[in-house]
Amino acid sequence: MNIDFSKNTDDLIPAIVQDSETKTVLMLGYMNAESLQKTIDTQKVTFFSRSKQRLWTKGEESGNFLNLVDIKNDCDGDTLLIQAKPVGPTCHTGADTCWQEENKESYGFISNLENTIKVRRENADSEKSYVASLFEKGINKIAQKVGEEAVEVVIEAKDDNDDLFLSESADLLFHYLILLQAKGFQLEDVVNVLKKRQK
Ligand code: AMP
Ligand code: ZN
Ligand code: ZN
Ligand code: ZN
Repeated sequence: MNIDFSKNTDDLIPAIVQDSETKTVLMLGYMNAESLQKTIDTQKVTFFSRSKQRLWTKGEESGNFLNLVDIKNDCDGDTLLIQAKPVGPTCHTGADTCWQEENKESYGFISNLENTIKVRRENADSEKSYVASLFEKGINKIAQKVGEEAVEVVIEAKDDNDDLFLSESADLLFHYLILLQAKGFQLEDVVNVLKKRQK
């Protein structure tokens, strides 16, 4: 690891830049009062570059600006968390982040569940795993299960037993995630369709 300890940060504070939607950490830069003001005025994240020794608007050459969404000061006022929408890849290497990570939408628990479904499918042991047995029965059976669970949700919606309604809703969502995977998709693909409709 080549770590550069030489750069001076007098009068500068670190500004962590996070994608406001995916929450992925994109980069870290330093700000002085002037760069912070310019960030607020232009709504484009602007640092004080230690190597250039001047104000640096991220994207000024590449066009890969970071459009400001929110600025948060930390508990003791010495580090900024900047939430922004990246126009393109944030790192000058062309990677999404300066740590070469992919900037993907994550749905937390649901993403973990999608991954578990994938693992069950790949290590198919249909005797032990319900998910594996569904994949073995094929797409028609999975689609049928989604239909059944949807009907159960409709039935419970008419009642006022909240526990049953939530339980059937969980069944529906679970089987819907399985159907998406059987078709080669993930929830993210559906969300992208919804996002396009908003525009
Ligand atoms: P840009 O601000 O994207 O127009 O890039 C201008 C220059 O700033 C690049 O040629 C790099 O030297 C530097 N640079 C761009 N992005 C980063 C980054 N995420 N971290 C550090 N330096 C960067
Ligand atoms: Zn602090
Ligand atoms: Zn970088
Ligand atoms: Zn059910």
